[in-house]
Amino acid sequence: MQFHDLKLIDPLLRAVSTEGYLEPTPIQARAIPHILDGKDLVGCAQTGTGKTAAFALPILQQLVTETHNRARGTIRVLVLSPTRELATQIGESFAVYGRQTKLKHIVIFGGVGQQPQVEALRRGADILVATPGRLLDLMNQGIIRLNTIEIFVLDEADRMLDMGFIHDVCRIIKALPTRRQTLMFSATMPQDIQDLADQILINPVHVAVTPQATTVEKIAQSVFFVEKKDKRALLEHLLDDADFRRVLVFTRTKHGANKLAQQLDRGNIRADAIHGNKSQSARERALANFKSGKIRVLVATDIAARGIDVEDVTHVINYDLPNEPESYVHRIGRTARAGAAGIAYSFCDVEERAYLRDIEKLIRLRVPVVSGHPYASSPAERDVPVSRPERRASANRPSNGGGHPAANGGKVADKPRRSSRRRRSRADRRPHGDGAFDAGRANQQ
Ligand code: AMP
Repeated sequence: MQFHDLKLIDPLLRAVSTEGYLEPTPIQARAIPHILDGKDLVGCAQTGTGKTAAFALPILQQLVTETHNRARGTIRVLVLSPTRELATQIGESFAVYGRQTKLKHIVIFGGVGQQPQVEALRRGADILVATPGRLLDLMNQGIIRLNTIEIFVLDEADRMLDMGFIHDVCRIIKALPTRRQTLMFSATMPQDIQDLADQILINPVHVAVTPQATTVEKIAQSVFFVEKKDKRALLEHLLDDADFRRVLVFTRTKHGANKLAQQLDRGNIRADAIHGNKSQSARERALANFKSGKIRVLVATDIAARGIDVEDVTHVINYDLPNEPESYVHRIGRTARAGAAGIAYSFCDVEERAYLRDIEKLIRLRVPVVSGHPYASSPAERDVPVSRPERRASANRPSNGGGHPAANGGKVADKPRRSSRRRRSRADRRPHGDGAFDAGRANQQ
């Protein structure tokens, strides 16, 4: 399958060829024809599969070929994104793929002053990419009306729900014309996402790519069993190897990200942190320095890293294992963009073994253990039954052995049912949410 088999118009074909894309990714090959046909669509695909182009290309084409006598500068497309980073990247994608068209886009998100965004809206654009909080805020002020929207995209719907945006999203959808094309993308399809799809889409086509297995299989993954106190030394040891050129390191907390970045920087390893408490300009600077190679290590928290799209990340290192196994897949996907191979290392201390088991269950792979490294915790017996650390509690609790086998007589704790676990973790995350969530809520008050 080639891009021109998808009946894309020349300006778009030239743009993808300038980007160096040789052929459509599976989600593009399967979604683009339906979107061009004007159908509603549910795409089950995560970041890294080429899903942005899967909706951006046919949307641009429809805007060019079906003008509906709209005045220039009328907003005809709304893309909702859960985070500002992702919104920015979607905006960049529209700019890249639409560079040979005269179409314009605007990106709006919270956490920054609204005036430049208001001015951009006054100048007009065809495509609006927004996070929910700021969009609602501007709607409530009468600055934005959505009655001219023809195509609505809900991107990363599962994250949107996880971050507590469901009510905002529903309010926004109520303001859209009922006659519209709706596209919804989500990395996972739990029941609540299917329910949402039933409410907002009409006879949708379902397109699923199975990136979790395919992406994950392309990545060389290993786990290092290590004591918490030795993690930094292990990281520095690994970074002695010059092959670790562009390294994305994940920590569980914002504080942990800051501390680690500072410690590395003091040790002459150029590093910076990216998380929700950083100002927008600090985040953009860190990302730009990482992209250009000025810094070698970017330390990130999960939500801040959503949608980070940096070519050529040589290694992803899970300094802390995530307590949500899906986050592991999202994280390591940063090192295998659109089919490239990548390397992902995970550090696992004794309290994190249950997280590792959840991850292995999800990806249906055993992650090989690196034994014999200088900081190996002894013994690296992965199958020793360990109690499940309480998910949120263990993230915050000082390391006092709460997750150690001895703590509950070596019994394997019952695994909570998936649905209840999700519900709990979602509720837990609310007050702790990273930037876009906080900013979004703050905007409405
Ligand atoms: P996304 O899933 O939209 O975040 O895209 C992931 C990455 O894949 C981005 O860096 C895109 O530039 C890249 N990409 C998208 N489509 C293709 C393609 N057909 N061939 C190669 N790379 C692509």
